[in-house]
Amino acid sequence: MLTLDDAKALDADDPFKGMRERFFLPEGLIYLDGNSLGAMPSAAPGRMDEVVRGEWGRDLIRSWNVHDWIGAPQRVGDKIARLVGAGPGEVVVADSTSVNIFKLLGAALAHNVGRKVILTEPGDFPTDLYIAQGLAAQFGAEVRVVEAEALEAAIDDDLAVLMLTHVHYKSGRRRDMAALTAAAHAKGALVLWDLSHSAGAIAVDLNGAGADLAVGCGYKYLNGGPGAPAFLFVAERLQGVLASPLTGWMGHAEPFAFVDDYRPAPGIDRFLCGTPSILALTALETAIDLFLETDLIALHAKGQGLCDLFIGQVSAFAAVHDLRLVTPSRPQRRGSHVSFAHPQGYPLMQALIDHGVVGDFRTPDVVRFGFTPLYVGYEDVWRAAEALKSLLESGVWREPRYAVRAKVT
Ligand SMILES: *Cc1c(COP(=O)(O)O)cnc(C)c1O
Repeated sequence: MLTLDDAKALDADDPFKGMRERFFLPEGLIYLDGNSLGAMPSAAPGRMDEVVRGEWGRDLIRSWNVHDWIGAPQRVGDKIARLVGAGPGEVVVADSTSVNIFKLLGAALAHNVGRKVILTEPGDFPTDLYIAQGLAAQFGAEVRVVEAEALEAAIDDDLAVLMLTHVHYKSGRRRDMAALTAAAHAKGALVLWDLSHSAGAIAVDLNGAGADLAVGCGYKYLNGGPGAPAFLFVAERLQGVLASPLTGWMGHAEPFAFVDDYRPAPGIDRFLCGTPSILALTALETAIDLFLETDLIALHAKGQGLCDLFIGQVSAFAAVHDLRLVTPSRPQRRGSHVSFAHPQGYPLMQALIDHGVVGDFRTPDVVRFGFTPLYVGYEDVWRAAEALKSLLESGVWREPRYAVRAKVT
């Protein structure tokens, strides 16, 4: 248990304390949901205004060249590559995470002819499973869903691709990327990693792990704004042999030759499909640039420190209030969010939000708290734990109004 003064002392020593001012956050709010929708970089509105008025408004279509709109997917992709252990030309920003999963799973199935199985685990983020199911129906393939503990043993010679989230959206459990990738490779399968809860949150080393394929989300830890474009990674060694099932013109070798026949671009560009949203890419790039100013190792260490502090403070009163930690307590085994199960998790979280601490609820019983080290401080974490404790002690969260379900939870 730390005191408020201890937490303040940690903030005073925090090398990222200046970063807090680079984000807009409402006064008095403790925002622990940046793992679902990252906070807004203070520079984003001004930068978007420049692009809207100065580029779109004034330079119009010439902006594709003079402001390099056309190069934005690759330019921002190369910046994200530095956050996830990829090289230049291995990451592009495009579409949504769901669509990128479709493209990469489809590419893996088409590549591994004769292998018809997508292996994954149950209870993961639903869109990943839904896309796999839809693709499997089109390819005559099978989605094999195996409990987490049995996954490694289920990797066999039928496997086309193993698809896993690196950090589980609910529990926060982190997978051993290098070990599972090696196990799949030993049986001739490809692996697709979903980095939605990893990129910008924890150290990721795609090339160090020998990874093949990855996707990730732009609007969570990367702070790219609501519905920000996502990114995808294809290891350089695979770019020439994999083909996207969405053969749009932006993935063509010569998009502006306007020829009738599709010919894939030689590198990562073949995984683009249609025209990118420049306004959305502008907001995302503004956010990514903040990460590139920081020492990423120290940033990730701070994230773990915030999680440790929260777990430590809440553990002191968890048992008496029916809270059970579901996130691994060892930092190497988790991402940068912490989840507790509580039998009445939904009204509890609604009441907490009403009291100025924003986390979220995940069905059936999980209250989830995201610790984004760029703009969350130790004092925030300390106060959030105190707010949770006083709320539980007061019983206010039992008021019926907190049980009313919102459309988006
Ligand atoms: C947030 C998230 C997504 C989001 O997919 P969208 O296509 O952006 O809606 C996908 N997968 C995982 C694991 C996520 O956490």
